[in-house]
Amino acid sequence: MQENMNDIMKHMQIKKRLSQAIGRHFVCMSIIVFAIASASGFVGSAMYSVHRLTNEIRARTIVANEAYQRVQRVKQARQAKLAHIRNAEAEAKRRPRADVVHYSDTCTSVANPASITVIVSKTHCFSPKKWQPNDLVSIGNNEYLRAEAATHYINMKQAITAAGMSFSPSSAYRSYDDQVAVYDYWVTVNKNTDAADLVSARPGYSEHQTGLAVDVKLGSCALECFATTPTYAWLREHSAEYGFIQRYPEKLASITGYETEVWHWRYVGVEIAQAMRRLGIETLELYMQFMDSERKYGNSENR
Ligand SMILES: [Zn+2]
Repeated sequence: MQENMNDIMKHMQIKKRLSQAIGRHFVCMSIIVFAIASASGFVGSAMYSVHRLTNEIRARTIVANEAYQRVQRVKQARQAKLAHIRNAEAEAKRRPRADVVHYSDTCTSVANPASITVIVSKTHCFSPKKWQPNDLVSIGNNEYLRAEAATHYINMKQAITAAGMSFSPSSAYRSYDDQVAVYDYWVTVNKNTDAADLVSARPGYSEHQTGLAVDVKLGSCALECFATTPTYAWLREHSAEYGFIQRYPEKLASITGYETEVWHWRYVGVEIAQAMRRLGIETLELYMQFMDSERKYGNSENR
């Protein structure tokens, strides 16, 4: 009986240890299974993230490449346009007397005569013909320019005075009626209108009517002789800093319509005057053409 009890006790102890062992084993296995599941979940998630990142980088690279190609295309178009314009001026200089711009009976009316960049020429006239600015300011010698141009003119004059040179205005703003007298004078001097047209604008076609142009002189030297003066050399070098350009450069009458006028300076604003100098474009006509193409390509470095 005692033996049976011992056997039963032993049997129960073995069973208990066995069940404890199975319990521990189960816990271990669960931990292992859980660890493996977590690890594979983490790896899966990591792989998914890497995949998504790779796709995103690829998409962004494509977008960046397209943007780069677009910028390159704009740059190339810009360079091509600039080269075309420089060639047009170089070609015009090779045959300066050919294709001189003539007046036409039906000129194109300038859209905005008050614009600082307005082009008034043999093909672009005022409408109404007697248009006049409303902000004229005296620049001395009983001559007038529009306010913004006058301020820059006076600054330019102070700068050249500080450099030990000088000039004075011989003619700035001219009304339609003033231009009638000027043109008639040149017709009388030249005895025909074709010759007069090369040196003077017809009434309603003169840049002087904009209030943005000024003819300068040095003492009694008012026309061609001005080309040999240090004052002219200074203006060629520095006028852009004050927003002025030589409006009728040498040998470009086939573009501007006029023979060289070393005395005639036109205010276009500092930004444009300096851009023309930097880009090597001499005529306002072709600079405005270049700006039109810049706007088309959405490029503002222009200037
Ligand atoms: Zn002039």
